[in-house]
This record gives sequence, structure tokens and C-alpha cells, in this order.
Amino acid sequence: MANNKTPVSADPASWSPETQLVHGGVLRSQFGETSEALFLTQGFVYNSAEQAEARFKNEDPGFQYSRFSNPTVTMFEERLRLLEGAEVCRATATGMAAVTAGLLCFLKAGDHIVAARAMFGSCRYIVETLCPRFGISMTLIDGRDIENWKAAIRPNTRGFFFETPANPTLDLVDIAAVSALGRQHGITTVVDNVFATPMQQRPLAHGADVVVYSATKHIDGQGRCLGGAILCSEKFLTDYLQDFIRQTGPSLSPFNAWVMLKSLETLPIRVRAQSASAARVADHLAGLPGISRVIYCGRADHPQAEIVKKQMTGGGQMIAFEIEGGKDAAFKLQNALKIIKISNNLGDAKSIITHPPTTTHYRIGPEARAELGITDGMLRLSIGLESADDLAADLEEAVKAARTS
Ligand SMILES: *Cc1c(COP(=O)(O)O)cnc(C)c1O
Repeated sequence: MANNKTPVSADPASWSPETQLVHGGVLRSQFGETSEALFLTQGFVYNSAEQAEARFKNEDPGFQYSRFSNPTVTMFEERLRLLEGAEVCRATATGMAAVTAGLLCFLKAGDHIVAARAMFGSCRYIVETLCPRFGISMTLIDGRDIENWKAAIRPNTRGFFFETPANPTLDLVDIAAVSALGRQHGITTVVDNVFATPMQQRPLAHGADVVVYSATKHIDGQGRCLGGAILCSEKFLTDYLQDFIRQTGPSLSPFNAWVMLKSLETLPIRVRAQSASAARVADHLAGLPGISRVIYCGRADHPQAEIVKKQMTGGGQMIAFEIEGGKDAAFKLQNALKIIKISNNLGDAKSIITHPPTTTHYRIGPEARAELGITDGMLRLSIGLESADDLAADLEEAVKAARTS
């Protein structure tokens, strides 16, 4: 709301998130376009040989090659950086490229990392399979208890990695407690903030060192482009990330950056609407016969509701729930839906349902699933932009169908 005491500043850092996401980071060309331009170019032309030399010596600010940077990608990075309140942002081709670069850029053979085992399947592959292949040892823990983090620290531990809320069980990690522990021991804390979105959780403000995103999810928000981002300090960038990204090339395409740059303009209203719908749908599900469990960060009965209060400003768009009758009932429910789509993606304008035990979490096997609390009747729901009434009715009818057929 208008605050008449403070004059409006020209500094985007002082603006509200909604304003930052519309005007932040704009690089307007000589044509004065209103909407941000798509610079679909690999390279850049220099006015002279001297300018080329100066650019390569970092004495002339400007672009050299789109693997390093590109004006459209830079606009996307700057807009997201403002929102997150980070010193720097680097965009990547996918969320997995962000996770991989965010970890491998500072780790080396002989190092050890600790990670919360409730996480996205591909993130688990990076930590559990890829890192050990290069001599980086790891310990997977139940990240909900700070004592487990303490107990897992070794003299060579250099990284903490976790996602909160985690996929698909919506387990939470106390960002401030784990980051503070990491800082005490010189350990870098990397947080995958996809589920909460930058609108509802700011890990850096709670002490984390590095935040990674799959921009594929809520940031695009309309199921079109893959993308990712890493947000960190200037020092982390110069010490580790800058060269890693420039030389290994997980760069974001300018086209995808342009789509996501424009998507950021509507992120606040989309996340707000989706969270409000998710809260309604979660409550509705909880009242349906045959639904044995509903997990939603915005509900008072979330097992870690205290941590939600501490670090999240909204309940998010993701719901996990369990239907009695295991896989059979879960399949019938999915097949009876008329509006909600069966897909493994999330964060789309379209509501999406997933059965983790047979899709995203199939490969980890029954033991690992049991350890994570992923039962055969569990379904994951990503709430889109449809009417919450329609979604609730679609689910209610599908639950009925699953129980009577
Ligand atoms: C989707 C996702 C990723 C990977 O992102 P991509 O853009 O698909 O590579 C990583 N972490 C979480 C929590 C995700 O949901």
C-alpha cells in the first residue's frame, strides 16, 4: 500500500517484488521497445580490434559470446536476482544444470557432502551416484532433524544440500538451523527452492549460501520452456561458479530466457492464485471419505507446521495425499479425472497429478520409498490456474469413482 513517507526511489532494490518483476533488469535497446527484446544471437560484433581486445581483457563491459552471457539472459538473471535479494544470479539450461553446476563448481575429489534424502529423483542421482564417481563422498540423512545434520559432519564436509519442501512428501528442513550449523563448520549450504518458489521462501535471508531453481516449474509457469538459475554471493561466483559455467556451458537459451523473463511479470499473481486454490483443494480432499492423509504446507496439521511459519510466507501449490486401496485405487482415481492431467511435471497453469511410486520415484525402489514415506496410495498434485471449485469437484468425483469401481 502507498507509503507517503518514503519517496519512490529509482533503485529497483527498494521496489516491491511485484514492481521488480515487471520493471527490474530491463536493458532497453536504441529502439526504445516497451516489451523486452529477444536477442537471439550467438555472438557480438566489436567496433574495432582494440575493442575486441579490451572486451577479452575485461576492460570493456559488454557481451562476447552467448555461452558466457547474452542481453536477454542477463535481463532474466537480473530480474530474478532482485526478487531473491541475492548478489548475483546465473541462469542455466535446466534445473538439473543449476543443481549440478551449483554443487560441482565448488566440490572436488576428497570432499564430503551431506544431503537430505527426501528430494527430486535426479538430484538424488547427482548426490548419490555422480558425486561418488568423482571421489566426492556423501551421506544421505533424514533432513528434518538438525541432530542428523550435526552427526553427519566429517572433517572434510564441504557442502550441505537439501530441498524444502521436498518432493513429493513435502518434508521440510529448517533452513536457518542447518545454514547456521554449516557456517560454524565452513560448510556451504545449497538449497533447491523449487517447491516454495521465490515468492514464498527466501533461503538466502535465512542464512543459506546458494539457491538453485528449476525455472521450468513455477517461473515459466505455463509448461513451455526448460530453464534453471543459481543465486549466490559475488564471492561464490568469482571463486567457483563463473569459470565453471563459462567453460562447461550449461547456458540458458536466449529464447527460453525471454519466455521466462516475461513469465516473471506474472509470477506473484499466479503463485498467489495457485496457493489460494491449493489451500481450498487440500481442505476439500481432507474431508473426503477414502482419503487417509493430506499433506499441505498451508494446513495446521502439516507435521512441521512450526517450520512453515518460520520460513515460508504461503502454503504453496503442491499437495500430497493418500487414497485407501493402494496403487489400484490411486490409478482408478487418476483415470477418472476430467480436468486434472496425469503428468510428471509441476508448477504449470494446468493442474497435474502424479503417482510418485510408479513414475518419479519408481527407480529408487520400494525400500527407499518406504524410508521416505511414499506409499502405494500416494499421489502428488500440482495446482494450476483453473477454478478451485472445478478442481475440488473433479477430485471428489474421481475419489468416488475409485472407491466404487
Ligand atoms: C524439476 C525439479 C528439478 C529439475 O529441474 P529441470 O528443469 O527439470 O531440470 C530439480 N529440483 C526440483 C525440486 C524439481 O522439482
